[in-house]
Amino acid sequence: MPVLCGKCHSASAEVHIPYAKLSLCPKCFLDFYVRRVKGAVEDFGMFKEDDVVGVAVSGGKDSAALLHALRQAYPNLKVVALHVNLGIPKYSAHCQAKVEELTKMLDVELHVFNIVKELGIRISDFRKTVFRKKVCSACGTVKRHVFEDLARKAGVDVLATGHNLDDVAGVMFNNFFYGRWDQLVRLKPVLPPLAEGFASKVKPLIRISENENLLYCLYGDVPFREIDCPYSSGTGVRKRAEILEILSRDNPYFRHQVLNRFLELIPLLENVVSKPALVKCQVCGFPSSSDVCAFCKRVALVKKALGKG
Ligand code: SF4
Ligand code: ZN
Repeated sequence: MPVLCGKCHSASAEVHIPYAKLSLCPKCFLDFYVRRVKGAVEDFGMFKEDDVVGVAVSGGKDSAALLHALRQAYPNLKVVALHVNLGIPKYSAHCQAKVEELTKMLDVELHVFNIVKELGIRISDFRKTVFRKKVCSACGTVKRHVFEDLARKAGVDVLATGHNLDDVAGVMFNNFFYGRWDQLVRLKPVLPPLAEGFASKVKPLIRISENENLLYCLYGDVPFREIDCPYSSGTGVRKRAEILEILSRDNPYFRHQVLNRFLELIPLLENVVSKPALVKCQVCGFPSSSDVCAFCKRVALVKKALGKG
């Protein structure tokens, strides 16, 4: 006898949500997911219905599910999609094609920043620099900066990213062990703008697991990338995910517990963690803790390695 969905009691249940003690059919799972996203937006006061919300879409399942769910939850919200083409051979063209398919399907305006065209570099070029074994670290700096820039140019008030429960709980855990309190504080669900004219940043998927995002895309026919970035294997993110997986085996609430305890801790930490004084980057004018920001330093490094500096 198939197990019936715990919501509609008519279709067969296909998804078990251990932390909610629910087994759901695909349709009820999609509704459950959208309500969870809406619940996080409202509980943390992420945006108002008259804000312009920019969604940073990479082509991956998390940000694709986020954009799709926000359209379902808030049909009248002004949403724009922001994408960075990283110039990684094959991979980046594939990601952009998926993002274009998704935004067309949802009728959402798309703003693309192509780093080859705009900056004359590719993420792959970091292999020719001291970042050769830490391409993801340099890539993260480039993406954060470019998304801020795209958001500002697109008139975005709030920038939403697809960070999921596994990402956030994993990074929280890691920062805790290494005593990186300033970085732990930055994992809050809502971050204020860097300076006037910049967007605030929000993480509407902070309570949703990677697996739920994948199921949402599969059941909801949401297009997302089918190939992996050539630099993704062996990253710290993957190793942290494995540790959390082991700790979660006997306790389905483990990641939620990690998240909730750290969210309680962050306001206390904010009182003791000193914030660096920000100045304007001498090259790009962005707020920075040093004369030249991390993004401009990394771009200069690559250009030098390419003989373009
Ligand atoms: Fe960038 Fe690393 Fe992600 Fe590839 S895996 S897109 S290099 S952060
Ligand atoms: Zn700069």
